[in-house]
Amino acid sequence: MLIDALLARGHLPPTFTLTDLLPHPESWSAFEAAYRGKIDTPNMAAHRRYITEVAVPMLASVTRKGIVYEFHTVDANVINAFAIPGGHIFFYRGILEQAKRVENEAQLAGIVAHEINHVDRRHTIAIFEYLKRLGGVDGAGEAGQVVVGMARHPFSTKQEDEADAYAVKFLMAADYSPKEFVTMWQAWDKLDKERPGSKDPIGSELDELFRTHSRPSRRACNAMKVAMANKDPVVERYYVGATNYKKKEARARQQY
Ligand SMILES: [Zn+2]
Repeated sequence: MLIDALLARGHLPPTFTLTDLLPHPESWSAFEAAYRGKIDTPNMAAHRRYITEVAVPMLASVTRKGIVYEFHTVDANVINAFAIPGGHIFFYRGILEQAKRVENEAQLAGIVAHEINHVDRRHTIAIFEYLKRLGGVDGAGEAGQVVVGMARHPFSTKQEDEADAYAVKFLMAADYSPKEFVTMWQAWDKLDKERPGSKDPIGSELDELFRTHSRPSRRACNAMKVAMANKDPVVERYYVGATNYKKKEARARQQY
């Protein structure tokens, strides 16, 4: 099976596309049923470009240099992001547009760095193997379901903490504010507590996020500790970029 051969080499090749991962028409069924017409749609092209530009300084810190990352959009009002082996990372529309969620470029860069680290720290490969074993996948036909499963499968708390800790290090290496990453989780924790219940229209989106990630209060603490431990005495001011985020124009193009 193609995927086994690719995974045996440690990662999927740089030129791999979604069609390579799911090479047979039947393997697309589960993936397509969930995402048909929603990935990399023209109406989100500006968002996709923005995420990719924000990711560039984050990628300078990765340890597995052989992976070529590709960033995708999912046109659905869900507040989440996910990664699959091979460096493909998906961002739902909610991450870029939902009010009071992400408020500046440093926070978005933190989420980008978190997802990159699920790949760079080999978490995605581990989950992929686990889901494959669990489902007894032996044909390419079921690979699509495994990929869909990856979008919904929670990482362990240890993996989440590790991805957050490295995200903070990546942010600091690129002079983005690590404090904003902490502030973001604190804000999400507050919003979660204010949540009236399942009648809230964004309730189900939050449920999806909390099902696949650890609690925001815990993440804020964890990120704060790493930021304090790695504080660079030379850097006086880290970049935030609230206007960049609003205009979807990366720091690399214009600093506000
Ligand atoms: Zn995560």
